Amino acid sequence: MKNSESDIQYLSGVGPKRAALLKSELGIATIGDLLRIYPFRYIDRSRIYRIAEIGGDAFVQVKARVVSRTLYGPQSSIVPTDGQKILWNAVKRLSVIVEDSSGQMEMVFFKGIRWNWERMVPGTVFVFFGKPSEFNGRFNMVHPEADAPLPEGSVLQNGLTGVYPSTEKLKNGGITGKAMCKLQSAALALCLPEIQETLPDYILSENALCPLNYALRNIHFPADQYALQKATRRLKFEKLFFLQLSLLKQKYIRSHGNPGLPMSKVGAAFNSLYNSLPFELTGAQKRVVREIFEDMKSGHQMNRLLQGDVGSGKTMVAVLAALLAIDNGYQACIMAPTEVLTQQHYANICKYLAPTGVKCSILTGSSTAKERREIHAGLEDGSIGIIVGTHALLEDNVVFHRLGLAVIDEQHRFGVDQRSKLWAKGPLSGDIASERRATLGNVRGGDPSASLGGMSGEVANQLGGEYPGQRLAPHVLVMTATPIPRTLAMTLYGDLDVSVIDELPPGRKPVKTILVPDNKKNTVYGFMKKQIALGRQVFVVYPLIFESEKMDLNNLELGYEEILKYFPMPDYKVAIVHGQQTNEVKNFNMKAFAEGRANILVSTTVIEVGVDVPNASVMVIESSQRFGLSQLHQLRGRVGRGADESFCVLVYDFKTSKEARERLELMCRTNDGFEIAEEDMKMRGPGDLEGTQQSGLPINLAIASLARDGVLLNEARAVAEKVLEADPRLEDRRNILLVKELRKDKYDIKDYSKIS
Ligand code: ADP
Ligand code: MG
Repeated sequence: MKNSESDIQYLSGVGPKRAALLKSELGIATIGDLLRIYPFRYIDRSRIYRIAEIGGDAFVQVKARVVSRTLYGPQSSIVPTDGQKILWNAVKRLSVIVEDSSGQMEMVFFKGIRWNWERMVPGTVFVFFGKPSEFNGRFNMVHPEADAPLPEGSVLQNGLTGVYPSTEKLKNGGITGKAMCKLQSAALALCLPEIQETLPDYILSENALCPLNYALRNIHFPADQYALQKATRRLKFEKLFFLQLSLLKQKYIRSHGNPGLPMSKVGAAFNSLYNSLPFELTGAQKRVVREIFEDMKSGHQMNRLLQGDVGSGKTMVAVLAALLAIDNGYQACIMAPTEVLTQQHYANICKYLAPTGVKCSILTGSSTAKERREIHAGLEDGSIGIIVGTHALLEDNVVFHRLGLAVIDEQHRFGVDQRSKLWAKGPLSGDIASERRATLGNVRGGDPSASLGGMSGEVANQLGGEYPGQRLAPHVLVMTATPIPRTLAMTLYGDLDVSVIDELPPGRKPVKTILVPDNKKNTVYGFMKKQIALGRQVFVVYPLIFESEKMDLNNLELGYEEILKYFPMPDYKVAIVHGQQTNEVKNFNMKAFAEGRANILVSTTVIEVGVDVPNASVMVIESSQRFGLSQLHQLRGRVGRGADESFCVLVYDFKTSKEARERLELMCRTNDGFEIAEEDMKMRGPGDLEGTQQSGLPINLAIASLARDGVLLNEARAVAEKVLEADPRLEDRRNILLVKELRKDKYDIKDYSKIS
């Protein structure tokens, strides 16, 4: 066995206990795995700033002694710490005053408070690394990295030292930053001589990439900046390249293996709606409709992601696609994640369908037994053309006559499992084989589940293609209003085709966005009153602030009570919606607001998903500094749907840092969801473990940042395309290394669904 494949516990300095920690915290099982944990930042240990020197914006390192530490609660009240038990739940911030020979400064922590409190004992010296910011005329650092200073004359003292991802548990288990450096050094000594290159020579030389062993050595212990750059580029490229290669390969298999339901007719249903549209489609809508039609008639199964900002008119596109399915003798289903949203869709779609005569029904959790029976029968005999529904559509007893198109709205709320259930509801291949032959000539078949990574596709191919009992996947269109930056979409959905509606219907007024500090909240209430007097409705949204749901609920309820005080019955009606209510209560309250019976809807972020209340013209977001920009943008999209001028009021903690406020200001400058999403991604550093988790990436890119490495991603994708073009099945001898690498589990990516 190779050293890199040995269990991590056998590396000197590890042992079974630490091995268990490394496994649970960082997913490291072997010595080779350890080498693939890279520093996310390098500290130039040769430069320590004096506190008095700090001025600019750049990251700096200071070596300072803790003078005092203070815990603050709400409204900057001091939380007592001597003698009694500290009430951690009430703590909002830890402030640590530190000093060196030149002066003092403050270190501020809003997160990891307890852990930092315990180690920031007065008198202890730390090396703090962070970005200084100015606050009240003085410099402080928010969430600095704090490490014990290295011993004088330590070898690592000079040059660039890697800082590795870490967790509280790791540190408590003795795997500190310093220990990690030692482990990496030991691992390199063992593994470098035997390291296996993962990229063929021709790819290395054509793309000016350094060899893997050079890259691994220099990513952990850079000889200098130049070597670090070369190492970083190589490792990023490798990561992005294999990801693209695996995704593109899947796409290739799908488009060549999956027979699609052929839909080449544009007929009466489509035309009757198209000719009676109450508005002209935007250029973007037209383009996307064309892209979808190309797919649907291609003879291959469509798997398309449709992205479009809130209000960009995705529903209309979905309905036109559904009518195309109808015109070709199929049915369509449109699935939405919540009951309220489904009902709204249904109402809108019925309006659109009026001139077509196509029968549309709705199926949700609250459909009665009688309604269900009728709907099931109508779907089975084909008399229902379009069905709009929630998860209820996935139940086994929902059987279609000929399902040709499945549209999934707000796709991130659904998992892949659920999608695949829909796929299994397609028509039997025997039923349509003759039609396919008639329209397309005899196309070799496969199995719809092939693109789910299952074996059955191959089996079906070996059997010689379609067989009568096999179900054919309907075309699939997933729609999301979460603007995913192109780079991210390419990675997450590399095996899907992506369409973008990048234009809003004309005449939409951009939502006016205002920032208000929370100590001026009265002005917000005054503004709300004026708007309500004009007959408008208002959303008030609270974020999830605390880790515990209970605390969040308290927070929401406090806010609710305050609002009730300012907006008393019977003059005002306030509804409240949150995650801990039963579905009935939630729906009831949502409906009260949607139907105009409540003036104000107080909620957590449950309203984020597409509720349409055209009369709501104000969105107030509390503690907005806690939200990601993309999420703020989503929330803001809930208003501005009617004709009235609409407003989004971002209330922020008045003590919020300058950076956080600047971040929010972007919301005032632009209404472009993609710009905001790109910006949001840039602000989350590549090694920011927490950020990566929040973005919910199914894959840990570790080294590459999708926001910053867009150019390299494009390069990697182009190389992957070129490789597959020349050798689609990767059978060429010179691609042996690629096949070997792709066999590893990490490229077996199945879950594209968690993107919100
Ligand atoms: P999305 O689902 O993308 O958020 P919708 O499909 O709900 O957007 O459309 C929002 C509103 O815009 C709907 O009331 C719809 O009727 C209207 N709409 C859609 N397309 C157009 C268009 N081309 N011109 C004018 N209004 C449109
Ligand atoms: Mg929508």
